[in-house]
Amino acid sequence: MAKKDYYEILGVSRDATSQEIKNVYRKLALQYHPDRNKSPEAEEKFKEISEAYAVLSDEEKRRQYDMFGHAGIDSRYTREDIFRGVDFDEIFRDLGFGFGGFDKIFEEFFGRREPYGPEKGRDLRYDLEINLEDAFWGLKTEIEVPRREKCRTCSGTGASPGTVPKTCPKCNGTGQIQYTRTLGFARFVQVSTCDKCNGRKVVVESPCKECHGTGVMRYYRKLRVEIPPGVDTGYLLRLRGEGEVGVRGGPSGDLYVLVKVKPHKIFKRDGDKLFYETQINFPQAALGTEVEVPNINEKARLKIPAGTQSGAILRLKGKGMPKLRGFGRGDELVRVIVKTPTRLTDRQKELLQDFAKEFGEGLGRY
Ligand SMILES: [Zn+2]
Ligand SMILES: [Zn+2]
Repeated sequence: MAKKDYYEILGVSRDATSQEIKNVYRKLALQYHPDRNKSPEAEEKFKEISEAYAVLSDEEKRRQYDMFGHAGIDSRYTREDIFRGVDFDEIFRDLGFGFGGFDKIFEEFFGRREPYGPEKGRDLRYDLEINLEDAFWGLKTEIEVPRREKCRTCSGTGASPGTVPKTCPKCNGTGQIQYTRTLGFARFVQVSTCDKCNGRKVVVESPCKECHGTGVMRYYRKLRVEIPPGVDTGYLLRLRGEGEVGVRGGPSGDLYVLVKVKPHKIFKRDGDKLFYETQINFPQAALGTEVEVPNINEKARLKIPAGTQSGAILRLKGKGMPKLRGFGRGDELVRVIVKTPTRLTDRQKELLQDFAKEFGEGLGRY
């Protein structure tokens, strides 16, 4: 779908003055601002008119748009840039609206409103290798995670103990600097991060020696984790707020503990099923028997019926892994391998020769 024309969206002529455009936007904002109008259509409309206003209220962007259309805007500005420096704040305050609704929509659809505002810290991942027994019983353990946190010496202020950061004198604590340049008839307004405080809004005159004024240090943090019985490789445990510290007062990220279950010496596993392989001899297979098979927490007796073939799979109900969701355990599946003897005593040979005579050629009554 082609994008609608900005002038059409606002319903103004192409030679409308900036004051006319502003008046029209104020009128439409009164109608569609999310504080006033909660319908989803209104939200769409509000996005549309706000974008149109953001472009047409800025001389340079409007010029670009007049010459090259949407391509002129989209190729030159990021979504964030389109909305940066627009006087929405002033307009909404004037109309009696908060900035909240706009902020929310803006964040959802166009990215962050204030590029130097608080940011959530990074999420971290920790790979935890456990063995099958741990996966069976569940595991309470302590992990040590390296992560960036507030410096403990200066409590994250970046200022050496006993001193406090001061409001940045260059940007007056806004974190950004506006430059206005006039080139011929065009006026350019550029906003950039304050170079004195790097957008932090404060300056530190006597930096903390520990973190060199950054307010952030890398520490090893011990964390308790609890792994429920039945987990498998790929299980992800989320520890909210245990990731890296947020930037400029933003919340901390989350820590994801990714479980990997190591291969086991004797068991194979598929979900809540355990696989085990047992070997029996030919008379046991022919006559039937009972053997002992292990599972993780105990030993079980397995009845092998007479006439069992090599490769047969027998089921031990409820002797597998615990179900992660729900109750009970899966099954243990035992593969029975019939081994052919290779070293026989004289007596065994004799008996087998008799047996062979009795049995005759071919497979008999199998
Ligand atoms: Zn420090
Ligand atoms: Zn500054």
